[in-house]
Amino acid sequence: MKRDTTTRNTIAIVGAGLVGALLATLLAQRGFSVEIFERRPDPRKFGFIGGRSINLALAERGWHGLRVAGLQDRIGKIAVMMRGRMVHHSDGHTELLRYGRDDSEVIWSVSRAALNMALLDAAEAAGARVRFERPLHSVDWRTSTLHFGPENARTTHVANIVIGADGAGSALRDAMNSHIDLGERFEPLDHGYKELEIPPRDRKFAMEPNALHIWPRGNYMCIALPNSESSFTVTLFLPNRGNPSFETIITSDDAQALFARDFADALPLIPELQTDFAMNPTGMLGTLYLDRWHLDSRALLIGDAAHAIVPFHGQGMNCGFEDAFELAELMECDGDIESVFAEFEKRRKPNADAIAEMALENYVEMRDSVADAHFLLMRALERALAARHPTRFVPRYWMVTFSRVPYSVALERGDIQSAILRELTSGKTSIEQIDMARAGVLIEQRLAPFS
Ligand code: FAD
Repeated sequence: MKRDTTTRNTIAIVGAGLVGALLATLLAQRGFSVEIFERRPDPRKFGFIGGRSINLALAERGWHGLRVAGLQDRIGKIAVMMRGRMVHHSDGHTELLRYGRDDSEVIWSVSRAALNMALLDAAEAAGARVRFERPLHSVDWRTSTLHFGPENARTTHVANIVIGADGAGSALRDAMNSHIDLGERFEPLDHGYKELEIPPRDRKFAMEPNALHIWPRGNYMCIALPNSESSFTVTLFLPNRGNPSFETIITSDDAQALFARDFADALPLIPELQTDFAMNPTGMLGTLYLDRWHLDSRALLIGDAAHAIVPFHGQGMNCGFEDAFELAELMECDGDIESVFAEFEKRRKPNADAIAEMALENYVEMRDSVADAHFLLMRALERALAARHPTRFVPRYWMVTFSRVPYSVALERGDIQSAILRELTSGKTSIEQIDMARAGVLIEQRLAPFS
């Protein structure tokens, strides 16, 4: 590929959220001149305007990006380990379902605000310039001019290469869509969410800190992730229609009654339930699909702006960080920028589609299957087969969470493994009844060695 040296080294990024700030860091570290335009004021001076998901689960793909950016130690100090799912059953008993074999296979809960601020520091330290309070309004593609702010206070910036990391509601995507058809499709989930809080008790965690707590209740659920200041962020996921749903649970009294009935052990831990329920917005969820992520050599979308997904695998940010890392690597290679963008889209889109599918599937698993005896038998068999056939049978959750195997490979191998698990557990109630010799034959026949 021939190198286009005229404009290639100067990049504008729209959005200094998690993915935009990491991408800026990685590009600036590689010698690019980077300018980021962010809608919000600087959170380090004016506080973090949050709203969406106060903490996030960080897994290997996310850690990898942070390691390369030099942030592992800083984030490691504030991350809380989650060993597995702590399931709170309806009858009040709890059980920990471990994610991996031991404490080397865990996920981490991190504050979105702290992470974003660390990434902004890293971007600036690497040489990127961040312009706050610059909401992208529109783009004049003829003159490559970005227009920011309202009409009476408009500012402009000329950028030959612009990357949109401005999230699910991306203004850059709208601007690109007005020029070419990106083939945009948004599939809303018919469930929404509400964030609540379990504060510390006597300055300590009110529940087991090193777990992702789940209250699975069939068609709906609650989860709670620990924060480093000993609180938990609780998220109630409910359908938008039906009973119970956000159509029937409207007032704080409705919420109180729902918790008293379905999440009784959590209720005394959430003193501000009524106020939080009334004050916090109800979030909507869905999956964004695009046929195209770039406009020739001029613009590219990344992170949620290209592929927002539902949060049930805890992978949206992790996937976005992987985008940032792979894009920065590609940008370093010689080659014209349009080929780099096309290659990025070719590599990442099948993976974004795969994690979108797995995230939707995981909602059913979290809210329903984890309380189901047959599901638990399949998981026990999965662990047994992974131990007996470690070079071929690798649990899908492991591939998604603890490795950087392409998501599309995890989906494909996971489907084959699920079929094997279903076949072997059909009509069985305990692991002792499983024909392990047959399991070995099926695995040899259907699964190539894992590399
Ligand atoms: P965003 O985080 O949305 O950042 C976009 C940035 O662009 C923001 O700073 C915004 O202010 C700015 N911006 C927007 N419009 C403009 C504009 N016009 N001009 C300039 N700037 C603009 N992911 C995980 O990996 N693990 C989890 O546990 C997890 N839990 C989640 C729970 C919930 C309830 C939700 C909703 C999501 C969760 N996610 C999780 C997904 C994760 O939040 C997103 O994937 C991630 O935030 C995407 O990062 P981003 O930088 O692409 O977009």
